[in-house]
Amino acid sequence: HEMAALNNTSVVVYAAKDLRLVNREMPVPGPNEVLLKMHSVGICGSDVHYWQHGRIGDFVLQEPMVLGHEAAGTVCAVGASVTHLVPGDRVAIEPGVPRENDEFCKNGRYNLSPSIFFCATPPDHGSLCRYYTHSASFCYKLPDNVSYEEGALVEPLSVGIHACRRAGVSLGSYVFICGAGPIGLVCLLVAKGMGAAKVVITDLSSERLAKARELGADFVLLSGAGSEAEASLGGPQDMARRVAECLGGTPPDISIECTGAEACVQASIYATRSGGVLVLVGMGPKLMTLPILNAAVREVDIRGVFRYCNTWPMAIAMLASRHVDVQPLVTHRFPLSSALEAFEVTRQGKGIKVMIKCDPDDEQP
Ligand code: NAD
Ligand code: ZN
Repeated sequence: HEMAALNNTSVVVYAAKDLRLVNREMPVPGPNEVLLKMHSVGICGSDVHYWQHGRIGDFVLQEPMVLGHEAAGTVCAVGASVTHLVPGDRVAIEPGVPRENDEFCKNGRYNLSPSIFFCATPPDHGSLCRYYTHSASFCYKLPDNVSYEEGALVEPLSVGIHACRRAGVSLGSYVFICGAGPIGLVCLLVAKGMGAAKVVITDLSSERLAKARELGADFVLLSGAGSEAEASLGGPQDMARRVAECLGGTPPDISIECTGAEACVQASIYATRSGGVLVLVGMGPKLMTLPILNAAVREVDIRGVFRYCNTWPMAIAMLASRHVDVQPLVTHRFPLSSALEAFEVTRQGKGIKVMIKCDPDDEQP
């Protein structure tokens, strides 16, 4: 009888290089929580990183942890105090839930709250499982014309929204994006959605640049910065010059760095117009050598980006209005039972977004 309760198939990382599909207990929602039957969960680079290294910077795996934080599902039970959701509601899940009402929360920047709960960041479990409980206030109802996969993609899309807001993208902006991985691509989608006139995007991979073109990039540039191809394609200052050339000789107002590579941060500083803004989304080495005096004397504002805050309602509205289309980001789908294979495909850098279908009775998008 005890075994019967263990029917919650979950993707759990035990330690570096040790990923398992295990049956965990069915969770019970607290008064302010909902129980969700998970539908679609995207795999993020950070999930793969915890699997490969057992840590990301100061976040170190101490105990087995369920992965996953890009998720959507259906409400199947609600806690006693929940009033805005009912069983049957389809929702997108915001994975970061503040634990205390500190100064960061009070001023709206709750992503900076140091004690925040965050799915699949140790010690907090993620949502890559069949049944999952989450704070009801951080579950957002999906309109009928927004699919579960689009709901799951609100998470990476939110990184793009927050980055573009921090960068001040607006009507007519000229934008340079470094990196055409999932995050660079969502920044591209959001920048175009916010009215950017021209977006130039760079990557080492011509395949990823082809995807960027498909998603609306005005110009794509193959990068050599920091790679073996550097000799032929040039260094950071050459990249900055090529970016301005694409834009008809005008440097971009805004650069969005989405690789974390030192050479790319350097190129982003050189590329940004005097008085412009560079936002750092990519997470690379702790210390970097940067042309900081160049940024200082040209008044290039360098701003950090940490996840997002206050983005889910806007993202869902953008998707429902069809103003932004995230569906082409999904290149692979696997049932939950094949999750280990899905992680291997992601690790190999194949495609863009790999989706896990957690409901064996509904594997539609
Ligand atoms: P990714 O690894 O899939 O994409 C990075 C892309 O950068 C790749 O396509 C790669 O080819 C390209 N690249 C690497 N070196 C390059 C170079 N020298 N020139 C041009 N392109 C280069 O990763 P992702 O999922 O797209 O995430 C991008 C970055 O954003 C990562 O560093 C990740 O940790 C970070 N991230 C930050 C936040 C945040 O809150 N700030 C949130 C999510 C992800
Ligand atoms: Zn992520």
